[in-house]
Amino acid sequence: MLIDLHAHSSASDGTDTPAQLMAKAAQADLSVIALTDHDTTAGWEEAEREARRQGITLVRGIELSCKRDGISVHLLGYLHDPTHAELIAEMDRARDSRYRRAELITEALAADFPIDYQDVLAQVSPGATVGRPHIADALVARGIVASRDEAFARLLYDGSPYYISHYAPDPVAGVRLVRQAGGVPVMAHPCAAKRGRVVADTVIEEMAAAGLAGLEATHPDHDPQQEAHARDLAAALGLFTTGSSDYHGAGKANRLGQCTTDVDVYERIVGQETATDVVLP
Ligand code: AMP
Ligand code: ZN
Ligand code: FE
Ligand code: FE
Repeated sequence: MLIDLHAHSSASDGTDTPAQLMAKAAQADLSVIALTDHDTTAGWEEAEREARRQGITLVRGIELSCKRDGISVHLLGYLHDPTHAELIAEMDRARDSRYRRAELITEALAADFPIDYQDVLAQVSPGATVGRPHIADALVARGIVASRDEAFARLLYDGSPYYISHYAPDPVAGVRLVRQAGGVPVMAHPCAAKRGRVVADTVIEEMAAAGLAGLEATHPDHDPQQEAHARDLAAALGLFTTGSSDYHGAGKANRLGQCTTDVDVYERIVGQETATDVVLP
């Protein structure tokens, strides 16, 4: 039974529509897939319809952008109430700030490369959460780089001269918000230093005290030592550990089901009193 609890659609920076993602998850023989777009639940309805058609179990979720001392923290939230006003307000604020930030990054790039903000907007599905992957796609479309990977490696990495951050709530506030909205908060890729700076374990302790449920220990961006550290930390803090692919479609090498979650952990997530139900086949 393959369970993958972290994947993106074109409602954020994935390249598959929510329906295509459900079809590919079924083709990949997954039993359970979670849709966790950045700062939006816009893909939930389409994914629900197609999950039923495909006969796959769908966990509806989000990946909430958070930040502590300039360090990005990604918080997965599962099965929360998508109408929770405070959580929506934070996600709207992050999404709006992401658009302004994409414009600023593009203006900085435009000083050195033939690209403008319209090129970037052309890569974003209507209403989707914009991210650096869309800027990467615009750079590819303009022939400036060959791939999303090359765009990140050369121009868009954390700390690049073109890098600008966006508004994001503190991770402790994020954990509280996901809980208040009836969801289950799990910290994504907690030790993935290859993505940029990671927060100290003491911040994860604070998140645990605020209601964090788990750590995503198995992730394509974790090396074996980082995975082991996440497992040790989870054990010390009484958290469970998940594993997931963070699939983004064609833009990234991550394959659906590349990393998976144990069924007993899945049952600990869906067994909680949550605001939204799992979509069963
Ligand atoms: P942002 O949310 O705008 O800060 O961009 C971060 C997103 O870019 C994350 O969802 C990552 O999965 C994605 N990303 C980071 N590095 C790469 C890479 N080398 N190739 C493709 N996507 C990447
Ligand atoms: Zn992403
Ligand atoms: Fe992430
Ligand atoms: Fe992700």
